[in-house]
Amino acid sequence: MRQAEDELAALREVGLLRQLRQVETDCPPLLRIDGRPVVNFASNDYLGLAHDEELIAAAREATTRHGTGSASSRLISGSSSPHLELEEYIAEWKGAEAALSFSSGYAAAVGTLDSLLKKGDVVILDKLCHASLIDGARQSGATLRVYPHNNLQKLARLLADNRANLPADGRLLVVTESVFSMDGDRAPLLEIVELVEQHGALLLLDEAHAVGVLGSTGQGLAEELGLQERIAFQMGTLGKAVGSAGGYLAAGRKWIDLLLNGARPFIYSTAPPPAQVAASRCGLKVIASSRGRELRERLWSNIATFSRLRETDIQSAIVPLPFGENQPALQAACSLLEAGYLAPAIRFPTVPRGSARLRITLSALHTEEHLRGLHEKLLTFS
Ligand SMILES: *Cc1c(COP(=O)(O)O)cnc(C)c1O
Repeated sequence: MRQAEDELAALREVGLLRQLRQVETDCPPLLRIDGRPVVNFASNDYLGLAHDEELIAAAREATTRHGTGSASSRLISGSSSPHLELEEYIAEWKGAEAALSFSSGYAAAVGTLDSLLKKGDVVILDKLCHASLIDGARQSGATLRVYPHNNLQKLARLLADNRANLPADGRLLVVTESVFSMDGDRAPLLEIVELVEQHGALLLLDEAHAVGVLGSTGQGLAEELGLQERIAFQMGTLGKAVGSAGGYLAAGRKWIDLLLNGARPFIYSTAPPPAQVAASRCGLKVIASSRGRELRERLWSNIATFSRLRETDIQSAIVPLPFGENQPALQAACSLLEAGYLAPAIRFPTVPRGSARLRITLSALHTEEHLRGLHEKLLTFS
């Protein structure tokens, strides 16, 4: 039989072994690792809401009123008010008829794609789509087609070819992220929406890294471009800028009813705890409020500062620094940590082989001193 030790040794050999590291969250954006303070450039909590007093109070209140656990799937024991209020809020916020919440963004992606699609349907994904979207597409049994990252010509060709061969009741779905999780660049969303409409297809947009960061009320790239109403499926996570945990899908009522009947991660899993759901709604409310706008302005001012220091145009809170091979990326992450900065070395299979990188994420909580300190340390690598 294959030995686990051998598999682990093989991973270590090529720089692909992952291990957990204990950290203490003192006072964001600072962490403590082995007793030493470290500035966190690895978090997707872009606005610092995961430690926000208002969210903590909302979670505490929900626990006191509704208990620590939801006890079963919502189809079994019913939906409590925090779950329904969260979904109403998301639907309104997204300009959609309805919404469904999941225990994670991963569950939202897999549940949605797996229940919307079946054999005979075609799903077209951007090459850099997140693992959750790929897993959902694969599980569904639909035919998968992939276009090179942000390549509109190839997408147009795939749409035309697959439209022509689609059975009369077949579905044709395009899937993209708005801000890409490991590259930090944006999809050409207006052009994608137009192509999807031209070919009578549907679009699923994952706004995981755009919510809280883009849009006049922090709803993401679709809001920034005024496209929300032209997108059939708006998906996202509540675990990143929203500061809580969970995932959602906002769509027309009939689609949500269909998911309720077919999304296995929703049906066969205990509903997320009331505290998580209440914190999510509170996080969304803060994002849409004037305080949220101030936090967003602070984040963008940090992005502008870091762009100036690095002399590049940064389009989101995610800054990839390419290394190519695994070992140099790991060494860089290690030497950053020694200098007091946490940024992960991202490797295969999270990114394609040969494109290992440091992934730096900026937050509204970073100070100019944090940014300058990191920048100076980064200069020693080139
Ligand atoms: C993080 C992420 C998810 C999954 O969300 P979780 O809530 O962390 O499970 C889905 N899509 C993208 C693009 C992500 O970056």
